[in-house]
Amino acid sequence: MITRIDLRGRSLSARELAETLPRAEVGVEDAAHQVAPIIEAVRTRGAEALREYAERFDGVRPEHLRVPADAIAAALADLDPAVRAGLEEAIRRVRLVHAAQRPQDFSVELGPGARVRQRWVPVRRVGLYAPGGLAVYPSSVVMNVVAAQEAGVRSLAVASPPQRDGAGLPHPTILAACALLGVEEVYAVGGAQAVAMFAYGAAGSEPQDGDVLCEPVDVVTGPGNVFVAAAKRLVRGVVGIDAEAGPTEIAILADGTADPGHVAADLISQAEHDPLAAAVLVTPSVELAAAVEARLTDLVPATKHAQRVAQSLAGPQSAVVLVDDLEHGLQVVDAYGAEHLEIQTVGASELADRVTSAGAIFVGPWAPVSLGDYMAGSNHVLPTGGCAHFSSGLGVHSYVKAVQVIEYDRDALEELADRIVAVANDEDLPAHGEAVRARFL
Ligand code: NAD
Repeated sequence: MITRIDLRGRSLSARELAETLPRAEVGVEDAAHQVAPIIEAVRTRGAEALREYAERFDGVRPEHLRVPADAIAAALADLDPAVRAGLEEAIRRVRLVHAAQRPQDFSVELGPGARVRQRWVPVRRVGLYAPGGLAVYPSSVVMNVVAAQEAGVRSLAVASPPQRDGAGLPHPTILAACALLGVEEVYAVGGAQAVAMFAYGAAGSEPQDGDVLCEPVDVVTGPGNVFVAAAKRLVRGVVGIDAEAGPTEIAILADGTADPGHVAADLISQAEHDPLAAAVLVTPSVELAAAVEARLTDLVPATKHAQRVAQSLAGPQSAVVLVDDLEHGLQVVDAYGAEHLEIQTVGASELADRVTSAGAIFVGPWAPVSLGDYMAGSNHVLPTGGCAHFSSGLGVHSYVKAVQVIEYDRDALEELADRIVAVANDEDLPAHGEAVRARFL
């Protein structure tokens, strides 16, 4: 069911390790070739192309690409009270954590009359994606919207795929989550086409769309399958994006003290997202490895999405990796750079502080990834495919930019004039120096 990779006694460089560790066969690069024409079609043909792709990929032609306000209100009115209570608790906790993320402005005095300040400014408008293909993700609405709101963004739009059995609207719980958060601009658009609509905007094609269906945004964020991640890579530069948050990954670093039942359940919980999801156990304990493999064999056929889970666990992106000891395990998980890393070992907290590449780290037996998926307060939109080596999960920082403000008075500039001229002339840009000199003639 799941491959074993035995790294015991092998001393590999970081590059060799990265090549040896499991990764999905269909990567973002491959998907990018498939989604490039979708982006071009939405850019040039707007809503007409959006309806065509909804029919092709989601099996429904939405009458309203922009969800009417009464449908959003009705979804909240019909929401199961237990689900509403869960979403409200998630919103409360995620808001607390994200309010604490707001970066501080600062001001540095470099001498009398010489000051540089830095202000953090939210972007004007954002497009937030909530997946809705194999599963639906109102939790992703919470993660995107709360982070953007806490950053101070004023204009927020949400997109999620139209559902076949919902008259071409996004799933009702997605709409209800938008209503709970006060988001009024919601689109029944999925996948790469949603990312393209946000990046370039879209003209309407039916009277109910109006002339302009959607105005372009400054930043597109949110998780999705490999096509969504590929589309975000392709529009980066036209707009800002968060990390590539594609098919989910769980890596678990565990020793012989871990409960094999918990480890197996956590691997399955992430495998149920997507046949391309990755589940990786890294352990120095052959006994734990064998016990987890046995539990997987028992548990997978009984789980609701058994076929998807089995595909994910059997795929080249999933494995049980045997290592010499926990130090070796730490090197391996750092080289992998998982979206989610669970540490179920003796001294888990100390090990967690030594990890350098992971989207989020879940410490000890009582912090499973499912907690973070919904309600820990942390954000569940996290970098995949090794992007954790250079990028962070979604947060307030994803929606703000730093603007530096330079204030020098006459004396402060005059003090530097000769030095500026010397460096400018050395760069063969003498007009730069002359612009300073001109002020003191
Ligand atoms: P989705 O909304 O991401 O994808 C559905 C859309 O995919 C469809 O609307 C369609 O437009 C597009 N699509 C499907 N087949 C296509 C094809 N052949 N070519 C082009 N486009 C195609 O929903 P999903 O499929 O359920 O995937 C959700 C994903 O989000 C999972 O992979 C899950 O692991 C991931 N996820 C990631 C994170 C993270 O932070 N990394 C968090 C939550 C979920």
